[in-house]
Amino acid sequence: MHSDLQQKDINHHFKPFSDNKELAEQGSRVIAHAEGVYIFDSEGNKLLDAMAGLWCVNIGYGRQELVDVATAQMSKLPYYNLFFKTTHAPAAKLAEKIASLAPAHMNKVFFTGSGSEANDTVFRMVRRFWDLEGKPTKKTFISRENAYHGSTVVGASLGGMGYMHAQGDLPIAGVEHVEQPYFFKEVSSKADVDLTPEEFGIKAAQSLETKILEIGEENIAAFIAEPFQGAGGVIIPPSTYWPEIKRILSKYDILLVVDEVISGFGRTGEWFASQHFDLKPDLMPIAKGLSSGYLPIGGVIVGDRVAETLIEKGGDFNHGFTYSGHPVAAAVALKNIELLESEGIVERVKNDISPYLQKRWLELADHPIVGETRGLGMVAGLELVKDKATNERIAPDSKAGGICRDFSMANGLIMRPCGDTMIISPPLVISHAEVDELIEKAKKTLDQTAAFYNLVK
Ligand SMILES: *Cc1c(COP(=O)(O)O)cnc(C)c1O
Repeated sequence: MHSDLQQKDINHHFKPFSDNKELAEQGSRVIAHAEGVYIFDSEGNKLLDAMAGLWCVNIGYGRQELVDVATAQMSKLPYYNLFFKTTHAPAAKLAEKIASLAPAHMNKVFFTGSGSEANDTVFRMVRRFWDLEGKPTKKTFISRENAYHGSTVVGASLGGMGYMHAQGDLPIAGVEHVEQPYFFKEVSSKADVDLTPEEFGIKAAQSLETKILEIGEENIAAFIAEPFQGAGGVIIPPSTYWPEIKRILSKYDILLVVDEVISGFGRTGEWFASQHFDLKPDLMPIAKGLSSGYLPIGGVIVGDRVAETLIEKGGDFNHGFTYSGHPVAAAVALKNIELLESEGIVERVKNDISPYLQKRWLELADHPIVGETRGLGMVAGLELVKDKATNERIAPDSKAGGICRDFSMANGLIMRPCGDTMIISPPLVISHAEVDELIEKAKKTLDQTAAFYNLVK
C-alpha cells in the first residue's frame, strides 16, 4: 500500500533518472528530514547518507547558519538579475571569495544554476574564445568514455554515458570521446591485458594524443575531464595519467576544462582537485559543494587567458540565466564557504578524516567478493566480484550492484551502485564514529550480498 504522499508522487510526479513505471508499483521512499550525516524517511528509518545527497552536502545537513543567511537575504533582496548593468552584494562577494580559493591564474567567475548549465556555459565560452582568437575551426571538444558532465543536451553530449546518448540522439556534433583511465575495468578484469596501473595510465592518456592527431589540432577546442570520475564509479586515474595528459596538452594549443562539480570545495582535502593533481585548468565548472546543496547554484571559474580574450575583445557575451548568481543561493554559498573555512573542514579532510576513512575502507578489500577498493579524499569505491583471482563479475548485467544497494539501504547505509561498483562520497563533516558505523554496515552488506549469491566460503 502506498501512502498518500507516495500516491500523489506516482500520479503526478515525473521523476528524473528513474523508471517511472516500475516506481509506480514500488512507490518512492519519502525523505522527511535530515541532520548531520543522517537522513530520515517517512517510515522512521534513519539512514547514514554516505553519498552526501548527490555528492553535494559537503557541510552536512541541518546547518542553521545557512538557513539564517537565506532568510535574511530573502527579506532584503529575494531576487534581482545580473544582466542589465546591475549586480548585488551576494554575487560580487561570492565571486571574489571563489577567486581567492581557486588556482592563482583563475580570477573570474560566471554564475549558473547548476553543473549542467556550467558545462553549457563552458561550451559557449570556449567556442567564442577561439572565434575571437581568429581560429574559428577550433570547435571540437574531446571528452572521455564514461565521463559525467551533466544532463542538458551539451552536458550529456560531453559526458560519455552510453545509456544517456541512447536517448535524444546524442552526442551532438563536435564532441569526441577517448579512453577512460579505469584500470580495474580495462585491465584487472581482462585475462588478455597485462599492464601495470602506471603503464595503463600512460596508454589511456595517449588515446587523447591519438585523437588529436586524427582530427587535427586546428579543429580541437578543448579537452574536458573530471579530475577523478564521480558518477562513472569513483575512478581515480593511475599516478601517470594526469602528468601524461599535461605533457600532451602542452604540445598542442588546446584548452583544459577540469570539471570540479564534485571534486571542488574540499572533497579531496584541497579546495579544488586541480590543486591536488597539480593541474592548470583554463576553465573550471563548479556546483554541488559550492552551496553544499542547500540551494541550487553553479558556475564556471575562468582562467586569465580565456577571460582576457572574452572580456577585452569580446564585447557583449550573449549568454546567461535568469537565476545566474541568484542572491539567496549566492548568499548561502558564501556562508557555506565561510563555514568550511572557519571550521577548518578542508584541512580536517586532508589531515584527519580522509586518512581515517581511507584506512578503514581499505579493510573491505579483504572481503571475498571485493575485487578492488580505491579512494581519494572523501570518495571511495569498491568492485563486486565472484572470484578475486579472475575478477569475474557476480551476475550478468551488473545485477549484483543493485542487490548490494538494497541490502545497504535495509542496513541504514546509503551506498550507490554504478554497475557492480559500490561508491561513497560522505559529508566532509562525518565523525570517526560515523565512519566506523559506515564500515560496519558496509561489511554486513557485503556479507549479505555474498550469502544471497551463495558465495560464502
Ligand atoms: C553532477 C555533475 C554535473 C551536473 O551538475 P547538475 O547540477 O546536476 O547539472 C556535472 N559534472 C559533474 C562532474 C557532476 O558530477
